[in-house]
Amino acid sequence: MNQNQDIKCSVHNCQYYKDNYCTADRIQVDNQYGSLSNNSDETICVTFKPKDS
Ligand code: SF4
Repeated sequence: MNQNQDIKCSVHNCQYYKDNYCTADRIQVDNQYGSLSNNSDETICVTFKPKDS
């Protein structure tokens, strides 16, 4: 999988994570709690998939 140099990420346990970058072709980020987010803590990457253990 190729790193997407435009998407830096530190979620080590995601299938798409590699060396501090995301390898997904595209990602989707949503409001975490259904209503509009007030800061980045209230957003969530819904493309995240846990690595197979
Ligand atoms: S899919 Fe989301 S959580 Fe996973 S590596 Fe990409 S940006 Fe990070």
